[in-house]
Amino acid sequence: MSENPTLERQRMDADIVCVGFGPATAGFLTTLSKQLVNADGTPVVESAVMPGMPPQVLCYERADDIGFGVSGVVTKARALRASFPEIKTAGIPMAAPVGEEKVLYLLDPHGASRRSTALKIADALIRTTKFALPFEQHALNLPWTPSFLHKHDGLILSMGQFMQWVGAQVQSTGTVQIWPGTPVSQALVEEKKVVGVRLLDQGVDKKGNPSDGFTPGMDIHAALTVIGDGPVGAIGRQLDEQFGLPEGKHIRDWAVGMKFVVDLPEDTTLKPGTVLHTFGYPEPEIFGFLYVHPDRVASLGIFVPSWFDSPARTAYRYLQHWMLHPYLWRHLKGGKLRSWGAKTLGESGKHGEPHLTGDGYARIGEGSGTTNVLTGSGVDEAWATGTQLAEAVLELLKAKKPFTKQNLDETYVKRRRASWVEAEGRIAEKSRDGFQKGVATGMIGMALAGLTDGKFSLGSAPVQPWKRIPTVEDYFAGKISRDEIAKLRDECKTKNVSLHGALMDKAGWPAIPFDGQLLVSHQDALLMGGKVQAPHGYADHVVFLHPELCEKCGARICIEACSGQAIYPGETGVPAFDREKCVHCGACLWNCSQANPENPEHMNIAFRAGTGGLHSAEN
Ligand SMILES: Cc1cc2nc3c(=O)[nH]c(=O)nc-3n(C[C@H](O)[C@H](O)[C@H](O)COP(=O)(O)OP(=O)(O)OC[C@H]3O[C@@H](n4cnc5c(N)ncnc54)[C@H](O)[C@@H]3O)c2cc1C
Ligand code: SF4
Ligand code: SF4
Repeated sequence: MSENPTLERQRMDADIVCVGFGPATAGFLTTLSKQLVNADGTPVVESAVMPGMPPQVLCYERADDIGFGVSGVVTKARALRASFPEIKTAGIPMAAPVGEEKVLYLLDPHGASRRSTALKIADALIRTTKFALPFEQHALNLPWTPSFLHKHDGLILSMGQFMQWVGAQVQSTGTVQIWPGTPVSQALVEEKKVVGVRLLDQGVDKKGNPSDGFTPGMDIHAALTVIGDGPVGAIGRQLDEQFGLPEGKHIRDWAVGMKFVVDLPEDTTLKPGTVLHTFGYPEPEIFGFLYVHPDRVASLGIFVPSWFDSPARTAYRYLQHWMLHPYLWRHLKGGKLRSWGAKTLGESGKHGEPHLTGDGYARIGEGSGTTNVLTGSGVDEAWATGTQLAEAVLELLKAKKPFTKQNLDETYVKRRRASWVEAEGRIAEKSRDGFQKGVATGMIGMALAGLTDGKFSLGSAPVQPWKRIPTVEDYFAGKISRDEIAKLRDECKTKNVSLHGALMDKAGWPAIPFDGQLLVSHQDALLMGGKVQAPHGYADHVVFLHPELCEKCGARICIEACSGQAIYPGETGVPAFDREKCVHCGACLWNCSQANPENPEHMNIAFRAGTGGLHSAEN
């Protein structure tokens, strides 16, 4: 971080400062903002920094508008309904009540995916007995699914739209300010106490050095800092680095979710409220989803997890193969891409729960380990922890007690531990460990954990993602020879492009029949729909920490996995980064094949706080 040579860093004082406006902070502010002022307009409690006024609450969001930084979902909406008992889908754009739900096992119609012997046997059995099964278009519709997977009575939402709706309600109370387009660069820590946050410097060069129009980011001091910056947020990670994780906890499981919002064809038979979940294709490790909003609009996408041991982890191309699966394509053919996006999902759940509180701070939402990997649910959990913190804060404010770790533990953590978020998080904690050993073990492990309330599970504790990434040569052994790989490498280097396309073509994946409507090139997608914005005057937020490791790196998975083609081969042995293409998915944080020598829990890429990203409120 550069120091200001000419201008003094400004300071502002607030009572509470929040980092990030995702569902967790939205839950916090929704609950808090309604209870700061009495019916006659007098403050319920007085601000410490503006006597006579209610507490001053500020929230800083990195993305350039409210709701540009989140994703589209299906949710049971238990916590949302607790905050909005009268919630009506009619008042929220793109919302629909959950209707028909299906879980589909997709078989591979091309024979291009990498399937274990167990899966090949299962596939052969299904194909042989398909006349007696709910089987059509190379897909098995699971005749029974456990109740923990269902979202009965829930909602399909565009989180972008929902967050804008919530943001408007919160701000209309007049007690809270939300500032989009304002990344927080670091937490201010004094003698192990968090005393506020520093906003990002503006008017700097790519490396953060002062340049034209240099304006140092302001310091916001507050009695309480609420950290709801999601799974890859720089502030949560800064605190993990400074304070460590509780014993036995580690954050090693991730997935990148890439999604499209599409107009379905005019003659679609898919009804609003339809929920399809898939597994098995385009690779067995990749899960998919399709949710139907009103007015023939659908959100669809895939998750590519950190335990998918491929050095060609490209979410964009795999998403297109997934859409082209015969079961789905008959519904999608003739459709049109409206917008798209990608975002990392923190899949460690309670395995990765950090210190939830400390002196002067509390953590909520996915960055605090809330996401339930068994039920595939994150919004409700994040929201619930936000409301629990708000109730705790109100209790402490009214009792005139300071925001010490002890007081926050006795109010916030106590509520959280007694809630369904904790109970269900414990059931889910080890449910995905089986995937460390393969997809079949993973699926059985999930079923076991779900059906026994977490008493039994399979597999072993997750390892760091970098340990799982094989070389390109090893992964494609038997499919593509070393000589052919060397040739493809040379060709791609000459063109300065990633390698995965050439590898997938060679491995038998059919070419994508681009139609300029729904099937568009990655490059075109960056320019249409939810297009990328990157304001000038900010430092690069993706940094290759040890260039010498990149120079020796065989996998270069950062380039292959990049959701925006923002990381590319470059001129030297070190990959190059183009901020104007970065969609802020955070996948580069965990898609690196080299450990950081200073801390092997981390990898050779830093993903810092930054501006820009996809400009779309539909996601
Ligand atoms: C593709 C995809 C599909 C999903 N589908 C579902 C689903 O169907 N059902 C479900 O329940 N959940 C789903 N989830 C998970 C769900 O979206 C998350 O669990 C949820 O959004 C977590 O909320 P949060 O508030 O904790 O974090 P986030 O939603 O990650 O919000 C954090 C916010 O903080 C901001 N931020 C980060 N760093 C900074 C900084 N330094 N300064 C300022 N702001 C910052 C970010 O821009 C973001 O807006 C899905 C996730 C993905 C990626
Ligand atoms: S960032 Fe990681 S994966 Fe990318 S080239 Fe460097 S060491 Fe390899
Ligand atoms: S550079 Fe940007 S788009 Fe690429 S993986 Fe990293 S965060 Fe995602």
